Amino acid sequence: MSGPAGRDGPAGVPRPRPAGPSYDAVVVGLGALGSAAAWVLARSGARVLGLEQFELGHDRGASHDHARIIRRSYHTPGYVRLAGLAYRAWAELEWEAEERLVVTTGGLDLFPPGSAIPSGPYRASLEACGVPYQWLDADEVMRRWPAFRLDDGVRGLWQADAGIVPAARGTRLMQRLATGYGATLRDRTPVTAVRDLGGSVEVATADATYRAGRLLLCADAWTGDLLAQLGADLPLVVTQEQFSYYRPADPDAFAVGRFPVWIWMDDPSFYGFPVWPDAALKAAQDVGGHQVTATTRGFDPDPAATDRLAGFLRDRLPAAAGAHAHTATCLYTLTPDRDLVLGPVGGHDRVLVALGAAHGFKFAPLVGRVLADLALHDGTDVDIGPFALDRPALTSPRPEARYLV
Ligand SMILES: Cc1cc2nc3c(=O)[nH]c(=O)nc-3n(C[C@H](O)[C@H](O)[C@H](O)COP(=O)(O)OP(=O)(O)OC[C@H]3O[C@@H](n4cnc5c(N)ncnc54)[C@H](O)[C@@H]3O)c2cc1C
Repeated sequence: MSGPAGRDGPAGVPRPRPAGPSYDAVVVGLGALGSAAAWVLARSGARVLGLEQFELGHDRGASHDHARIIRRSYHTPGYVRLAGLAYRAWAELEWEAEERLVVTTGGLDLFPPGSAIPSGPYRASLEACGVPYQWLDADEVMRRWPAFRLDDGVRGLWQADAGIVPAARGTRLMQRLATGYGATLRDRTPVTAVRDLGGSVEVATADATYRAGRLLLCADAWTGDLLAQLGADLPLVVTQEQFSYYRPADPDAFAVGRFPVWIWMDDPSFYGFPVWPDAALKAAQDVGGHQVTATTRGFDPDPAATDRLAGFLRDRLPAAAGAHAHTATCLYTLTPDRDLVLGPVGGHDRVLVALGAAHGFKFAPLVGRVLADLALHDGTDVDIGPFALDRPALTSPRPEARYLV
């Protein structure tokens, strides 16, 4: 007697799934990174299947809501160069989509004296890469952006190219382009098993199994579950984070063009945006949440974290802390060194992993290009050495975690 297609039999014995069509690449996870990979792969002529366990655009991962910061200011020359390539990849996406996506606001990294995140590596990395910036004292910051209340000794690193990239809209756009190039994207289709068959890979869902030349794991907070099936592991920590929207009494003072994206480079670290896209501005603490898993996480904001942010805004940006509009949650998936993960899984050359380490949205279109290079040509001209899965921070038995960099 045969049961419903795809259900496992008694004692968990897996029932064979009907074989689906085969593909050049299967992408698991259609957040920003997986959607970018599906877009670039399909554009290159590859047969692509993208599988997403929830509805496209859902809010249980990391690519929802409006705004993400894009910036060149980073603590290593490698990241500054990568950010330069990311700007070009966004420009390519804008050209292809015939839509403006990057909103340039300028960016202000604020370093109080003795800040937990030192300014030296940021300035040296920008200088090494010839990226112009200005180094401002507190009075000059408050003269240019009078909303800030800074103590003497706070220094501001101003970089004019920083701005906003649209999170949900950008992700949706890459999905639309991917399907336009012929990719098949299936939502509400959890991948239940992945196997490396040597000459190909196999992916199972409740209804079918698929064979492909390459498997791209773009599963962020769920990455560990999929890697475990290949006998692989990464020391990832998932935290439940949150962001709040406020309606300032004078929204014009915080409009794009008058107010920048900003990051408070201390512990705790906070960041925020101008009023965008509507009448409210967003601010949040970076790595301020509790450790969770993708399944144990909740969706209710933590009142203590909401208060911490409100307190910071009252002290440093009092005019921004107008009426509190709402607070929502999201997941950070962190590596111990806060560096991205990008490359093949050891012993499984056909399986690639991409993980943004909670600052990866700005790199999404570039990551799509790198994944397509690796999947179709076994190599890329982008320097992804620092993001390898076998780097010491990911392989040493007790890696020291340093999330604020
Ligand atoms: C609040 C917040 C603020 C951030 N701010 C910035 C910022 O300012 N600048 C910046 O550059 N980055 C920022 N980031 C980080 C950036 O947003 C993320 O790195 C990026 O969006 C991650 O994209 P992703 O596709 O890897 O993950 P996700 O969007 O989480 O997508 C992973 C997808 O995989 C799916 N999936 C998992 N397992 C399976 C399975 N078995 N079968 C099918 N589907 C599966 C999940 O359902 C999910 O949709 C921020 C992140 C958060 C949460």
